[in-house]
Amino acid sequence: MSGIRIDVLTLFPEAFTGPLDVSIIKRARDDGLLDLHLHDIREHAADRHRSVDDYPFGGGQGMVMRVDVLHRALVHVQAQAQPVGHVIYLSPQGEVLTDALVRQLARYPRLVLVSGRYEGVDERFIEHCVDREVSIGDFILTGGEIPAMVLIDAVTRHVPGALGDALSPTEESFAGGLLEHPHYTRPAEYNGWNVPDVLLSGHHAQILKWQREQRLARTRRKRPDLLGHWPSPLDLPEVE
Ligand code: SAM
Repeated sequence: MSGIRIDVLTLFPEAFTGPLDVSIIKRARDDGLLDLHLHDIREHAADRHRSVDDYPFGGGQGMVMRVDVLHRALVHVQAQAQPVGHVIYLSPQGEVLTDALVRQLARYPRLVLVSGRYEGVDERFIEHCVDREVSIGDFILTGGEIPAMVLIDAVTRHVPGALGDALSPTEESFAGGLLEHPHYTRPAEYNGWNVPDVLLSGHHAQILKWQREQRLARTRRKRPDLLGHWPSPLDLPEVE
């Protein structure tokens, strides 16, 4: 099974311990499906203060990450393996991460993620070194480490084999343009709260029909903006 290599350039490699060391992502790493490499940008600072940022030309608040330090770090990381990788700068100004984009990114053999800090990075780095800017939503975080972890988690789930044999990313919300149907488990009755009868009926076709209706109904209710996107949920095969 072929996996994905992901390199992360960050000022805080230690921020990545925890979420990527448990459960499905840990297993994917152990199985070689996710080959994750963390790199400290500060190691490529040249002066004795190990500066990675400086004041913005033209004035204004905050500091900006230096293009020379970032470029040296990127060249160093890219030289460590082939291919050089698709370079992504995590940025609130980027294309918003969606299921479709995640699937697209999961097809690359290698991604190089750059996590920003402060006011962000010198624009020349984006212009000359970055293939794509990706945002995790229209809000501002302190740094690009959490967005990078979000991207790594989401992408890894789409690497063939990462979810094991029992689970498929095609049955989750957004696959096929709909939210997923609701789930229930034992006990069948708790506190007077009952599981829908159909799920206990053992009638497979009726269960599939109910699940499909639920997917449509809850998408209409919770995320009507998803309806009308291709592929249309109305094009899904009828279940009798
Ligand atoms: N001054 C920038 C602006 O207004 O566009 C925001 C900089 S933010 C405080 C610092 C870093 O956090 C960014 O360089 C970026 O890497 C990361 N970041 C913040 N919000 C993000 C988001 N919604 N998606 C992806 N990265 C984000």
